Amino acid sequence: MSTRTPDAPTASPLLQWYDRHHRDLPWRVSPPMARRGVRPDPYHVWLSEVMLQQTTVQAVKPYFANFLAKWPSVIDLARAPGEEVMAAWAGLGYYARARNLKKCAEAVASQHGGIFPDTEEGLKALPGIGDYTAAAVAAIAFNRQAAVMDGNVERVISRLYAIATPLPAAKPLMRQKVALLTPDDRPGDFAQAMMDLGATICTPKRPACSLCPFNGSCEALRLHDAERFPVKAAKKEKPVRRGAAFVAVTSDGDILLRRRAESGLLGGMTEIPTTAWTARQDGETSAEAAPFKAGWESAGTVTHVFTHFELRLSIFRVAIGERVQTDDGWWEPVTNLEAQALPTIMKKAIAAAIPLAFKTAKG
Ligand code: SF4
Repeated sequence: MSTRTPDAPTASPLLQWYDRHHRDLPWRVSPPMARRGVRPDPYHVWLSEVMLQQTTVQAVKPYFANFLAKWPSVIDLARAPGEEVMAAWAGLGYYARARNLKKCAEAVASQHGGIFPDTEEGLKALPGIGDYTAAAVAAIAFNRQAAVMDGNVERVISRLYAIATPLPAAKPLMRQKVALLTPDDRPGDFAQAMMDLGATICTPKRPACSLCPFNGSCEALRLHDAERFPVKAAKKEKPVRRGAAFVAVTSDGDILLRRRAESGLLGGMTEIPTTAWTARQDGETSAEAAPFKAGWESAGTVTHVFTHFELRLSIFRVAIGERVQTDDGWWEPVTNLEAQALPTIMKKAIAAAIPLAFKTAKG
């Protein structure tokens, strides 16, 4: 391998690679179509980009198809009942995003006649659209020269220029490099090409540098040290929070559910009764805190890792003859659980007490 200084990277080899090796994705327009001026539907681009944050393409595909089947346009989504949107989102995680998705659809419908603004600034003014999503939608849907940077792009750019500053401090420099590399004529394809390269060739472990269109201009490759980049600041240990959750089932097969408060973590989602844990403090962990007195028995512990903390819930269950009146919540047939807006942690908790409650809940 050469030790000479690599050539300065340019967009052309990447775009040629993308023309041949792009991923076919349901929200995408292929490069030949894009070159003929066909642009993807901004609603599809926006929806996919919001869903793809922190989630894989494979996981997003069925959700994307389901959303479009239910709500073919942004106006349909704006008119949909909030609980239905939350139920369709359940399992994708980061539920604040689903709430913002709905608010954004409402703003596009009411303030823009159902047509997305076509600039980064206009998009950023919408609820729940941050720098990344605004740049991605502006570039991909409207072919604007926006610097799009997700985790895949960060990896590629940090290797290409061997950026030694750790993340997140390196982000401004990375953004500057991406902006310089983004071509005037095909900024949308360039953004998607960088994402595809990061997802398929410049992978976190063992990047396939011999197949990479940048292998004549990559500084990390020259240093034989691709996996060192991006450099990350040392991770802080996540705090562990504890709480309890209660699964009560009647002999008719009804389970006690309730809705979480609109604001805060998992806001507006459905849950089984739990104690008052938060990201900052533990909740009660004993059966004493159950929503009503009964012969509660332990059904083990489930763990779920949120962005800023790890939650360990002690699960208690009880089988009772008939429904008990409680301060809040309602009784729902267990056979109807799949249709509820239950976040993954609640599915895990219910599955610990009723193993066959879901086909898909993970332990
Ligand atoms: S040459 Fe290797 S390290 Fe550099 S961008 Fe390509 S795949 Fe990544």
